[in-house]
Amino acid sequence: MRARMSFRLLAVATAALLSLPTSAATAPKSVILIIGDGMGVAHFTAARFLAGSNARFTKMPVTGLVMTHSADSIVPDSASAATAMATGVKTNNKMVGVDPSGRKLLTVLEAAEKSGRATGLVTTTNFWDATPAAFAAHAASRRDTAALIPQILSSGAEIVAGGGADKLGVAPLPSLEALAREYKYAPIRTAAELESVRAQRMLAVFPTEAREVDSKLVGLPVLAAWAIERLARDPDGFFLLLEHEGPDGSSHGSATPELEASLLSLNETINVALDFAAKNRDVLVLVTGDHETGGLQIHPEKPGAPLELRWSNVGHTGEFVPLFAQGPGAESFTGLLDNTDIGKKLLRFMR
Ligand SMILES: [Zn+2]
Repeated sequence: MRARMSFRLLAVATAALLSLPTSAATAPKSVILIIGDGMGVAHFTAARFLAGSNARFTKMPVTGLVMTHSADSIVPDSASAATAMATGVKTNNKMVGVDPSGRKLLTVLEAAEKSGRATGLVTTTNFWDATPAAFAAHAASRRDTAALIPQILSSGAEIVAGGGADKLGVAPLPSLEALAREYKYAPIRTAAELESVRAQRMLAVFPTEAREVDSKLVGLPVLAAWAIERLARDPDGFFLLLEHEGPDGSSHGSATPELEASLLSLNETINVALDFAAKNRDVLVLVTGDHETGGLQIHPEKPGAPLELRWSNVGHTGEFVPLFAQGPGAESFTGLLDNTDIGKKLLRFMR
C-alpha cells in the first residue's frame, strides 16, 4: 500500500514537472459559460425546487463558491463582476474590460478568437449590456453604449444575440440594418429568421422585455441551442457566453412570477448545454452567477407549503455565489474561488 502510494506520488510529481499548468489532457477545446445574472445561493436553490428532477445542474460533478467583490466595493455590479470573469482582473464597478486605471485587458473571447475558435455572446437583455460587453469591449463606463456596440461588433464574434431591438434605430443608436451592414453581420429579427438565415456572422436582436426576462419571440434555451449548433461547426472549438438577465431584473423588482420563469428558462438553457456536452466530451460547461441580487430568501417553514420567495432589498448583495462545472478542466473550479480565478483559468484554456 505504502509502495503503491509513493509510486503514485512520484508519478504526480513527475507529471507536475513535465507538464504545463494546463495539460492537453485537462484543457477543454470549447467552453460554454452560463451566467445567471444576479443569482446567488438562494436563486439556484429556488431553481432546484422549481425544476425538480429536471434541475440537472445539481448533478454537475464539480461545485465551488465564488467571491464577487470588485476593486472598489464589497458589493459588485455586473460590469466589474463580468470583467473579472472575462479577464481575470478586478476592476471598479461600472467598468467593462478595463482595469481601475482604464487599461484595456485581454478577454477570454478575444483570446478564443486569436486561437482560431468561434465565439458567441447571447443574452436576454440588450446585447451591449455590461455582462456581454465585458467579454468583447473596453470602456470606463458600462453606459457608454456608443463605444460598446462598435467594439462588440468588431470583436470577431460569429454570433451576437440578445435584446435591444426596441432601442436600435432610435436616436442616437443606429438601426439594426445599419449596424449589420457596417460590421458585416447578417441581421436577424425573428425566430423564423434564426432558422432560415445562413451566414458566417449573425446579429440576432429582439425587443428587450421588462425585467429582462426571455424575449416573447425566442427564449434563451432556443437561442442557446441555435448558437451551440452553429459555433460547434468550427473544428478549432468555440467559446460561448449565455447570460440570463431575468433573475437580476426580477430580483431588483421583487417580481416572483418573472423570477420563477427566468429560473426555469435558465435551467432549460443549462440542460441544452449539458445535452451538447453529453455528446461532446471536449467541452467545459460552467454555470454561475455574477453577484447576488435582492437578498433572496426561501420561505416558509411549514410542512407541505409551497415555495415562497421574499427579498430583503432591491439592490445587489456581496454574498458568495455558487458555481457548477463539468468537462475537461472542471476539477480546477472547486473550493472557494475568486471571480478573477474564472477569468484566469479560462484565458489559459483559450490559448
Ligand atoms: Zn443588477
